[in-house]
Amino acid sequence: MESAGTEPEPERCPPAQEPPVSPALPAEEPERSEAAPEPQQEAEGVPPPAPVAQGRRPSGPGSKGQAKRCSAGKGGRGKRGSTRRAGEEGGRPARRAHVTVDSSKAKTSLEALKISLRQLRWREFPFGRRLPCDIYWHGVSFHDNDIFSGQVNKFPGMTEMVRKITLSRAVRTMQDLFPEEYNFYPHSWILPEEFPLFVAEVRMMKESDPPWKPTFIVKPDGGCQGDGIYLIKDPSDIRMAGNLQSRPAVVQEYISKPLLIDKLKFDIRLYVLLKSLEPLEIYIAKDGLSRFCTEPYQEPTLKNLHQVFMHLTNYSLNIHSGNFIHSDNANTGSKRTFSSVLYRLSSKGVDIKKLWSDIISLVIKTVIALTPELKVYYQSDIPAGKPGPTCFQILGFDILLMKNLKPVLLEVNANPSMRIEHEQELSPGVFENVPSPVDEEIKVAVIRDTLRLMDPYKKKKKDNQSQLSENAADTKDELLEPGSTDQLEHISKNPEASLPSLCLKQVFPKYAKQFNYLRLVDRMAALFIRFLGVKGTMKLGPTGFRTFIRNCKLSNSNFSMASVDILYIDITRRWNSMGLDQRESGMCLQAFVEAFFCLAQRRYKSLPLHEQVASLIDFCEYHLAILDEKRLVCSRGMTERRAELGTCQPDGLHLTAATHAPLLNRMTAANKLTDYRNHRS
Ligand code: ADP
Repeated sequence: MESAGTEPEPERCPPAQEPPVSPALPAEEPERSEAAPEPQQEAEGVPPPAPVAQGRRPSGPGSKGQAKRCSAGKGGRGKRGSTRRAGEEGGRPARRAHVTVDSSKAKTSLEALKISLRQLRWREFPFGRRLPCDIYWHGVSFHDNDIFSGQVNKFPGMTEMVRKITLSRAVRTMQDLFPEEYNFYPHSWILPEEFPLFVAEVRMMKESDPPWKPTFIVKPDGGCQGDGIYLIKDPSDIRMAGNLQSRPAVVQEYISKPLLIDKLKFDIRLYVLLKSLEPLEIYIAKDGLSRFCTEPYQEPTLKNLHQVFMHLTNYSLNIHSGNFIHSDNANTGSKRTFSSVLYRLSSKGVDIKKLWSDIISLVIKTVIALTPELKVYYQSDIPAGKPGPTCFQILGFDILLMKNLKPVLLEVNANPSMRIEHEQELSPGVFENVPSPVDEEIKVAVIRDTLRLMDPYKKKKKDNQSQLSENAADTKDELLEPGSTDQLEHISKNPEASLPSLCLKQVFPKYAKQFNYLRLVDRMAALFIRFLGVKGTMKLGPTGFRTFIRNCKLSNSNFSMASVDILYIDITRRWNSMGLDQRESGMCLQAFVEAFFCLAQRRYKSLPLHEQVASLIDFCEYHLAILDEKRLVCSRGMTERRAELGTCQPDGLHLTAATHAPLLNRMTAANKLTDYRNHRS
């Protein structure tokens, strides 16, 4: 993993080599445009016309309401009069406004970002900008800078969510509900608290299957680049000397039969774009990187356990091996494109389609495990009503292929390295950063196409954004003769026309139907957030929990409010004693989920866990819908009484925001009632 703040690849960054740019797309500074004044103008206090929706935020977490293209011209000059048709200027099609990007916090992704921006002809602000930018490119976390508008390439809480322990917990909750669907994550135990469980379970398994000779991998929480990782054969080999209390860790079943190429173990780094949390939108890059070990693989034995170049695929470790081969093309060396590996596998008869589909499924399921808690972070950092920003994020998924081609999730990186150069030793002790063509090919495309998908000026097309690639290609191929003046004009007005088709493929909501049934914790999180009360908190207080029980009609003669309090105290105390987040007292989402499981088991004894939980969620949502309905009737009654008293708006027709909301709620309430009744019948 690459931790927050540290990236595994060398820090020094000489200017990277530019990729070939279309002859119609000069690499110089982007042209001036109506909506993008020169920096000089800004310094003189001439503000560029702000995009219409800048600084405004839509209602839901991470929702995709984005700034719309500015249709009015520069204030005072009136070049783009409001009476003109949108998209026209002086009878000619209007030039695209340049998207503005603040790259001042881009850190080691800066070189790849710069190339992407040049290809897109967007405006970069390398030292930040007094006025708001459309997009902020942060290198590490959401909190790199205070921003209140536009879009930022990090979600609050993502770094915390993908730490080894948090990820393991989130996946485990899903494994409890759907063991078959989540068997792509190795069996894991959290240390130190689950050490006794680890010992007991291993002993039990060994007793029931004597020939079983397992290996385990111990990974310090928050560690990165293979740091502190070691293999063991027996629980008693855990190194207590480092004091697990001060450095918690995850111990995991070691996948001892990985797929090998040229006798070497390798893993896959795939880039995944979380475009929006609500509604959930996920894209996967069509190509990624494969990182190879530098010693031929042997199944773990006591003799070879410590050989990191054989067992760990980390680039940052293997680069120090004398056998490391810098790739000068995509198909060879210690770091190659994933597509070159797929090509090789396909030539050996491997069903590549099935492999991709398994990988997509792994990615969607993992994101589904992460989103509930991300939503809690989101509402805490950007509560509804706060202007913004909206968020998106590129994640790095590390995946291992087993010998039988089953993909296994190793980890998720919130800050995957976007460096496009590597360090090379020219002579003993003399190092130089040189461009890495393989990194550049993959990473620039991922950043550039993420930006294309987040383009705030792009009109929302009726058809899905995933069609973008086809559209770009189609427009070029079908409408224009290659090399014609029309084409050159088209390209100069729309730089995207000269770019390759999108490397990012939408997988959610595209495959939502197949995966929505897994989103139970998401629905629990919605209940949790509803009762959090004061905006900005992440933990539920005892009163909030009691209100949840009361409003959802969960207490009865068998389950008194006193028992509710005991349940709250028991579970909350235990979760807080794990020392996860001591900043706030109260019940965290994971503790709420545990309490919810208890309530579900108590009420629907005979069903499997996921059905118990789904039934209880339906039950809660049903009662909350009735409550919303009652509130609506009350508020409508009050409005009518006010109208009778003549206190309404003079025209009596305009709905205020306050009267809109209950109408929307009513529709949701009606749907919930129908859903619940259908489900029960
Ligand atoms: P880090 O964040 O320190 O890189 P990882 O979880 O990515 O930690 O593990 C480092 C390397 O160890 C991986 O790249 C992979 O090669 C190997 N590895 C990790 N977990 C397993 C596992 N369960 N089975 C086999 N190999 C593993």
